Order: sequence, then C-alpha cells, then structure tokens
Amino acid sequence: MSEPQFNKITLIGIGLIGSSLARVIQREGLAKHVTIATRSPETLKRAEELQLGHAYTTDSAEAVRDADLVIISVPVGSSGAVARQIAGSLKAGAIVTDVGSTKASVIEQMQPELPDTVHFIPGHPIAGTEYSGPDAGFADLFINRWCILTPLPDTDKAALDKLSAFWEACGSRLDHMEPQHHDLVLAIVSHLPHLIAYNIVGTASDLERVTKSEVIKYSASGFRDFTRLAASDPTMWRDVCLHNKDAILEMLGRFSEDLASLQRSIRWGDGDALYDLFSRTRDVRRGIIDAGQEVDAPDFGRQAAVKEPVKS
Ligand code: NAP
Repeated sequence: MSEPQFNKITLIGIGLIGSSLARVIQREGLAKHVTIATRSPETLKRAEELQLGHAYTTDSAEAVRDADLVIISVPVGSSGAVARQIAGSLKAGAIVTDVGSTKASVIEQMQPELPDTVHFIPGHPIAGTEYSGPDAGFADLFINRWCILTPLPDTDKAALDKLSAFWEACGSRLDHMEPQHHDLVLAIVSHLPHLIAYNIVGTASDLERVTKSEVIKYSASGFRDFTRLAASDPTMWRDVCLHNKDAILEMLGRFSEDLASLQRSIRWGDGDALYDLFSRTRDVRRGIIDAGQEVDAPDFGRQAAVKEPVKS
C-alpha cells in the first residue's frame, strides 16, 4: 500500500468504472477519504452496502466540497449537467477529471461550466466489461490497460503529473492525445465493433426462417462473442453514438465500403482476395496478443469480475 496521494477523492457515478475506481483506491490506499455521489438512492444504497467509500450522498455539489480530486464516471451525455451541479462547490486547485468514452463532446459540455480555479483534465481508461452498476466493478480492471488523457492546451503540468501518478497507481499505462484524435481512434477500436455487434445480434433476432431458439442453441460459432459486446449498457452506448457522431459515421462509411468489397469477392469467387484479407486480419490479432493487451486463451483471457465487497 502506498502513501495516500490525495486527502479527499470524490467519485460521481458509481457504476462499473466508478466502483472499480473506488475498489482500487481503497486497496492501494490512494486517498484518506472517499466520498461517493450518484443520482439514484438505490444505487447509492448499494454502494454503501458494498462499503465502497466513507461518505455517500445524492447531492453532487455537497460531495465535491473540499475534494482534491473529483472523478466523474457517468454516461457522457450527462457530463455537462454534472459539471453544472458541482461548479459552485469545487475547491480552488482541485483536479476534475472524467472517464467518458468520448472526449471532444465531454470537453465541450464541461469546460464552459467549470471555474478557472480548478484543473480540468479529461481522461478515458480503455478498460471495461459488458456489465454495469456498482456490483460490476473490480479493483484489477485497470491493470495493464491504457488510460488516455486529453489535456487542454493550458493544462497545469503539476496537476497532470498528479493525475498520471494516480492512474499509474491504479495499474494503468498512460498516453496523451488530442481529443479529436482520441475520438477517431476509439471510433474504430471500440465504437464501430459495438455497433457491428448490436447490428448483427439485432439482425439475428429479427430473422424469420431461423428461430430465436436455434440462434441461442448454436451460438458457440462466432455469434456468441458478438452477444457479449451487444449486452453492453444501452444508456452508455446511446450516449457514445450521439456524442461521437462524426467519427463514428466516418468509420461506418469506411466499413460499408470494405464490406461491399468483401461481398464482391464472395460473389466473384475471388478466393485469393478472401485469403489475403483473412491473413492480414490474423496478423492484427497476433499483434494485440504480442502487445500484452490480450492473451491467447479460448475465453479471450477474460476472467469473471471479482464482486466481493471491499473493506473500509
Ligand atoms: P454504469 O455502470 O452504467 O454507471 C453509470 C453511473 O452513472 C451510475 O452510478 C449512474 O447512477 C450514474 N449516473 C448516470 N447519470 C447520472 C447523473 N446525471 N448524475 C449523477 N450520476 C449519474 O456506467 P459505466 O460503465 O461505469 O460508465 C461510466 C462512464 O465510463 C461512461 O461515460 C462510459 O462512457 C465510460 N466508460 C465505460 C466503459 C465500459 O466498458 N463500461 C469503459 C471506459 C469508459 P444511477 O445508477 O444512480 O442512476
């Protein structure tokens, strides 16, 4: 356990990401005090039952008083509203960050609301599962996963270093990016795959000549992996689509063109084109395994989330 990096950390939103942060903060002793705020009394009660922090409230403004670090882990469409709620209660010099899956839109929503006296440093841990809510979190979620920070042009270097040290203590590897570039990269590596999964599972469930029970019964052959992605939180993904519209539409356009070309190869019986594509894509997977971002195991290296309550 390390020295506490912060006196008080406030977590706003205590779902998969917020509760994973709460667990790792406690395990690593990164704060002397953790206050948890969320919108609904039910979620707050569950966070308290799981002993995820020291104080609990549905009043975000109250929660951030005296906080040195505020981490907002709510669906990206709610980040502006949360910034508005907390703006008047933030301590001068506090670091305010978020974990949202889109960055340009979050900055656009939050920056105008926050006072100049705080350090706003947007971020995005590239770590997650298809589960949501306070029970879904686990302390190891961020280990060896990238966390992308998108500092603003006038971001204070000392605050950036402090936030970077925090994420490193959570197990993350740090990278910096321009917000627009982040959104483009994430559109291809995360947003498009989720949309393809939502679409293919939607198509299968609409089929008339193949029954739903056959789809479920024979799902081991590829379809099952799409259903994992397609089980992701609908609110989160609705917001991602609405808040990274341009980059997602650009990637969908490229995807549709490439799909048409694949269709043509099949129609013309162009085995060489199919073989070349399938070989290239196999190399991409090998590269991901070699980079340590995946293991070569039948379950894709995903272990069941640890759902034990943490001790306060
Ligand atoms: P989640 O499990 O669904 O939890 C969302 C939390 O936000 C809940 O505690 C919810 O509270 C709270 N919330 C929603 N609207 C709110 C509001 N207006 N004010 C205060 N609290 C509010 O979601 P998550 O997976 O942790 O995702 C949180 C953020 O992390 C999202 O921006 C997402 O894009 C990003 N992210 C997700 C993943 C992933 O794989 N899931 C990965 C990286 C980043 P109630 O239950 O009380 O309504």
